[in-house]
Amino acid sequence: MASVELHDVRKVYGGSITAIHGVDVEIPDGEFVVLVGPSGCGKSTLLRMIAGLEDITGGEVRIGAKRVNELPAKDRDIAMVFQSYALYPHMTVRENMGFSLRLRKAPKDEIDRGVANAAQILGLTPYLDRLPRHLSGGQRQRVAMGRAIVRNPQVFLFDEPLSNLDAKLRVQMRTELKALHQRLKTTSIYVTHDQVEAMTLADRIVVLHDGKVEQIGAPLDLYDRPANQFVAGFIGSPAMNFLGGTVRRSNGAAAVAMVDGTRLPLPAGAKGGDGQQVVYGVRPEHLALGDSGMGFPLVVSVVEPTGADTLVFGTVGGSEVCAVFDERHAFKPGETVHLAPKGDRVHVFNADDGAAL
Ligand code: ADP
Repeated sequence: MASVELHDVRKVYGGSITAIHGVDVEIPDGEFVVLVGPSGCGKSTLLRMIAGLEDITGGEVRIGAKRVNELPAKDRDIAMVFQSYALYPHMTVRENMGFSLRLRKAPKDEIDRGVANAAQILGLTPYLDRLPRHLSGGQRQRVAMGRAIVRNPQVFLFDEPLSNLDAKLRVQMRTELKALHQRLKTTSIYVTHDQVEAMTLADRIVVLHDGKVEQIGAPLDLYDRPANQFVAGFIGSPAMNFLGGTVRRSNGAAAVAMVDGTRLPLPAGAKGGDGQQVVYGVRPEHLALGDSGMGFPLVVSVVEPTGADTLVFGTVGGSEVCAVFDERHAFKPGETVHLAPKGDRVHVFNADDGAAL
């Protein structure tokens, strides 16, 4: 087990395409960190640089306090799990899992013990003599993880390992992965574009956008206190609602006034000076039904009952807004309902650069 440190890490492809602009992250020993961001933000590039599969253009990667920039992948003592599983089709589960130890010329009894232990942890013992093609997708992914566990590496690197699984299996494997980390406590770096996976798995999340770090924090810190509009919109599902307007303060009360005159109430203590252009952010689950005269009016367009809750879509001052309610509602399209933010769960962002105020 080891810490992983990235100091001003940069990546330029082909002399001109800057994929990573100078990333600093310190991952203590045993932590589970998720790199998350939209497609093309640079998360795979960053992971591949840590793995040694991609040259590092600038900055420094340290594993266990040792600089590894010049160290070949095979000498970094890491194990990587890919989306594609990358299993050898002609080898049994046992042979696939023991392969890296065989390459290292480990004694047979050590290989047998390592494979048996990983198989037991992952529930693969009954399948050790099967070929990958006779396994389900979830079982294949478990073999890929088993292969990583057998190596007993300093660091696990995961590159979207659950993307090929169907929705139900993804959730199940996600839970298994978390339980596995709680048991092995091996430093883990996990790449995904799926913010729910990031929220549920991570000790800390690194949100990437256009090759830069937008924010690093514990999942609920990012949810409660996003540093900017990008993180606010990326973390949470359905996504946070954003409404543009101007801060208006009078007689101790504050609101954001939209161009059509709709007034969005600001809680006491909300930042933003009178006349400042801002973006008002409120999560769908933080909207409650109010009486007319309270909050702001939503003109309903679509109601989606999921069984567990009700999603209501509509417009506020001409902008799209979504609200989620625990209770069931059968609003009609065109109907006006009144919404008010719960407590002080409102976010205000600078309209110019999206920074949280
Ligand atoms: P992500 O994993 O977040 O989807 P990537 O790390 O794959 O993003 O890519 C980051 C950026 O680097 C993208 O703009 C991508 O087009 C570019 N890129 C990735 N690999 C190469 C490559 N081999 N050559 C040139 N550009 C690349």
